[in-house]
Amino acid sequence: MVLSGPSGVGKTTVYRQFLARCPGVRFSVSCTTRAPRAGETVGVDYHFLDRADFQRRVAAGEFLEHAEVHGNLYGTLRAEVEDTVRAGGDVLLDIDVQGARLVRASAAGTPLAPSLVFVFVGPPSLAALEGRLRGRGTDAEEVIQRRLRNARAELAAWREYEYLIVNDVLDEAVADLVSVLAAARRATCRCGAPWNHE
Ligand code: 5GP
Repeated sequence: MVLSGPSGVGKTTVYRQFLARCPGVRFSVSCTTRAPRAGETVGVDYHFLDRADFQRRVAAGEFLEHAEVHGNLYGTLRAEVEDTVRAGGDVLLDIDVQGARLVRASAAGTPLAPSLVFVFVGPPSLAALEGRLRGRGTDAEEVIQRRLRNARAELAAWREYEYLIVNDVLDEAVADLVSVLAAARRATCRCGAPWNHE
């Protein structure tokens, strides 16, 4: 399950609550070159790497996808995703729009393609998003402005996703995501083993 949405939309809160309700789903811990924020745990929220280490892993082919977001590098390690998916498990990826496109493109024509579910988390309005970005109080004005510019570009891509969840009331957004997972698990195109109905 690939989850995207502009920063400040509350995606992290939504997916944390979702994972608490769906403990069978594995969260793909991304690598990033940005500095940890207060309250973030190394290896749980992200693998924090310096640029040289990140680039070394790119060259070694360790990433399923990687992209530059807000001036920092972010990437999904194959090791976080592939074995679990091959074994029939569910993995949640929190990645930006560029990353989602790369995952879609690299899975095209492979057995992974029908397993993918793309979910976009949007704000009730752009004004609400700006309020949340400022309310977080963790980022400098210049960073907020860059994130807002990026948010407009990300929002324009929502139709590329199969599902849209508007994060207005948190509990409802979490319940929506749980429902998307339930629907995805029942999709006939995602049934691995033949269904023995006789
Ligand atoms: P933040 O720095 O606020 O945690 O994340 C900034 C943006 O980077 C978010 O839109 C998030 O979805 C995206 N992001 C996080 N991990 C990855 C990743 O592994 N790949 C890509 N392409 N984007 C990521």
